[in-house]
Amino acid sequence: TQYVYRFGGGVDDKGEGNKNLLGGKGANLDGMAAIGLPVPPGFTITTEVCTAYYANGEAFPDGLTDQVAKGIAHIEGVTGKSFGDPANPLLVSVRSGARVSMPGMMDTVLNLGLNDVTVEGLAASSGDARFAWDSYRRFIQMYADVVLGLDHHAFEDALEIAKEDRGYFLDTELQANDLIELVGEYKSLVEAEWGKPFPQDVNEQLWGAVGAVFASWESDRAKVYRRLNSIPGDWGTAVNVQAMVFGNMGDTSATGVAFTRDPATGENAYYGEYLINAQGEDVVAGIRTPQYLTKAAREAAGAKPLSMEEAMPEAYAELARVFDTLERHYRDMQDIEFTVERGKLWMLQTRSGKRTAKAALKIAVDMAAEGLISQEEAVLRVDPMALDQLLHPTLDPQAPRDVLTKGLPASPGAASGKIVFDADTAEKWNDRGEAVILVRVETSPEDIHGMHAARGILTARGGMTSHAAVVARGMGRPCVSGAGSLAIDNAAKLLRVSGRELKEGDIITIDGATGEVMAGAVPTLQPELVGDFGTLMEWADGSRRMKVRANAETPLDAQTARDFGAEGIGLCRTEHMFFDASRITAVRQMILAEDERGRRAALDKLLPEQRKDFIGIFEVMAGLPVTIRLLDPPLHEFLPTQEADFAEVAEAAGVGIETLKQRASELHEFNPMLGHRGCRLGVTYPEIYEMQARAIFEAACALPTAPVPEIMIPLVGTRRELELMKEVVEKAAEAVFAEQGKRIDYLVGTMIELPRAALMADEIAEVGAFFSFGTNDLTQTTLGVSRDDAARFLIHYVDKGIYATDPFVSLDVEGVGQLIEIAATKGRKTRPDIKLGICGEHGGDPASIAFCEQTGLDYVSASPYRVPIARLAAAQAAL
Ligand code: ADP
Ligand code: MG
Ligand code: MG
Repeated sequence: TQYVYRFGGGVDDKGEGNKNLLGGKGANLDGMAAIGLPVPPGFTITTEVCTAYYANGEAFPDGLTDQVAKGIAHIEGVTGKSFGDPANPLLVSVRSGARVSMPGMMDTVLNLGLNDVTVEGLAASSGDARFAWDSYRRFIQMYADVVLGLDHHAFEDALEIAKEDRGYFLDTELQANDLIELVGEYKSLVEAEWGKPFPQDVNEQLWGAVGAVFASWESDRAKVYRRLNSIPGDWGTAVNVQAMVFGNMGDTSATGVAFTRDPATGENAYYGEYLINAQGEDVVAGIRTPQYLTKAAREAAGAKPLSMEEAMPEAYAELARVFDTLERHYRDMQDIEFTVERGKLWMLQTRSGKRTAKAALKIAVDMAAEGLISQEEAVLRVDPMALDQLLHPTLDPQAPRDVLTKGLPASPGAASGKIVFDADTAEKWNDRGEAVILVRVETSPEDIHGMHAARGILTARGGMTSHAAVVARGMGRPCVSGAGSLAIDNAAKLLRVSGRELKEGDIITIDGATGEVMAGAVPTLQPELVGDFGTLMEWADGSRRMKVRANAETPLDAQTARDFGAEGIGLCRTEHMFFDASRITAVRQMILAEDERGRRAALDKLLPEQRKDFIGIFEVMAGLPVTIRLLDPPLHEFLPTQEADFAEVAEAAGVGIETLKQRASELHEFNPMLGHRGCRLGVTYPEIYEMQARAIFEAACALPTAPVPEIMIPLVGTRRELELMKEVVEKAAEAVFAEQGKRIDYLVGTMIELPRAALMADEIAEVGAFFSFGTNDLTQTTLGVSRDDAARFLIHYVDKGIYATDPFVSLDVEGVGQLIEIAATKGRKTRPDIKLGICGEHGGDPASIAFCEQTGLDYVSASPYRVPIARLAAAQAAL
């Protein structure tokens, strides 16, 4: 087996692009060498060796030693230096490199090959003793830390003391003699801590470093990083061994990092930092303040120290040529590491650069315009979830602000709403259509439903990676975390800040982009979906097959959805309309009525209200399909639960308090999710669905551009249920059409949210004209997991790998997905033109959308702010 791939100096084992085998760094070092860029020669030990090493009880596979020796011989051949040679010693770096970059997770050793003898050779051959001893002290320090696992603080302290004793400020002020002394101290430190002298045998050094790179793959921090980023443990890391080039050889030498375009804005301008007379990590370690790469950037920042463009014009010009070559070769923005040794440029790394969402859009659109990539590739380049950063409202900069305090800008966007102190209240108030801000000391998984219901989240404790911050970013909710000056009194439902007191229900505004917390409602501006965003979305729409609709139940949400490009409404939940303060009494009267006559009397009061709702939505959705779900939740959700509220509610509804209590206890259910809800309500109280259908048809008839209402019956499990409910709807339709002397087109269909419905889809499709997969409930009923109770254990399930991701966030394709496939296939069998869509949270999740495309669904429906994400994800799925 080939364990070692060589690169540089005209020798090429063709590792280019093979990231799985050579890791990202190795594959691209080989790639850069292959296109003739100046890369110090070296070789890569494959990731397979790492996997074998762990499979064999931490032993290297047979034959590796020989191949590594050949690799070293290759470097010696190209450089004309010899490893361990006392006169002209070869030094190498030993660098880790997994398939995907794991920043800061694994370690690198530089200047390997130095010992008490070769350091003298290096001093003589370079003619620079200071440089030789500086390299040796760096090597001992890194080796002790990375390979021997000794505490690096002791070495840093020794360095600081050496400078202080001599009245120096910078590392570069240390002279050769100072460094010789320091090396002596370092060696004593190693011997004291490790119990053995610092290894002088260069081959022992090499294998020690190789072993350390492999060991770093199984380090705790690497494991945590892999878990957080879903990187499989069996990928392993490669090891790159490469001739050293030196940026610490005086003022004509330097080291730096750069991006070929600005990673924050995407602007097509070189961006980076460099340091003269420095090595490796110095730039990022913050030992000295790095200098700008370009003159323009230096001038813009008003900085004095010369830019690389000014200080080293020739090396800079060469670097600029390399940038262009790399972009043309890799056809993407590159993140680069380089070193200049006595005026000569060397390339040490290149990879696709991380970037903000804004930059990702600009770079994709610009590169397509430059002809570097196609429009389809541009569409594929942008992570749909990253758009979230751009889709949120921002505060109107003109509007006055009454700032209470400032926390961390944990999740972008601005939101105003009423203060609530617990998740249940957040959910309840949101259901009534009120905007709320959830204010907590800190959040925990039990708060998820409240975070979801809230417009924004504010916490007193916790950083940028706290639970609140991470979850809020995932949900796209603005969040300010760690606002330490907040004093929250949960029992009294009070918030004290800056000498002021706010109570539950008071309105505040948070700005997740700045961390500001303000009293009152500050007006917000909707994001502008023009420019690069508009262009990319246009290209995406050109590549997409599935339609994208929105879940919306108010004209405002419907308008937001339209602005974001929704092509209809996929789910309009009618129960939300019943919570409105002006209607809840009529709803309660309906529930409390003794017989059908009483119910009809109450429903008659609701009819005009409900008709108004639909007119509002239909106007916004002019002519587009609108799927309306008839009443779904169990009736007890509309009755009060707090003893304190009973008297008032009873009085408003005009019944005795005892009647109200008795009815509430009659409606009590042990398992409401599986109880008297969905079409079961319509079966027992057909007059409710009749009123809703009538409101829909009256609204549609009242408008010049009639939409195509798609009336959706929830929680159907049998053909007969749907048949009965369809009759109710049809009767209402005919009655309205007769009264209005006008007919409109409409469809009656069902949600598929029970396993039985999926399995019996052929029969159900004989009656229903469309299916909408209600994947929230379908996931609950298939997994037997209640979404509201799942937070307590689901993280452990994801942690232990039982489910790869939260099945309520990303569709359980293996399980629930099968039911969707069965239902789609069976539905099409009896009704070939059946319309298929998905509503539910998964309609806005890119992985779930990819599954919908595969299954051939006609549309996905997502919450308004997710519509652009869904458009892009649907396009990517189709490409
Ligand atoms: P990381 O993956 O943490 O970036 P690297 O393997 O890229 O680690 O090494 C860190 C730094 O060490 C590089 O940025 C580079 O400046 C320096 N370095 C690595 N190999 C060499 C080399 N052969 N010659 C000079 N500097 C090197
Ligand atoms: Mg690097
Ligand atoms: Mg449902």
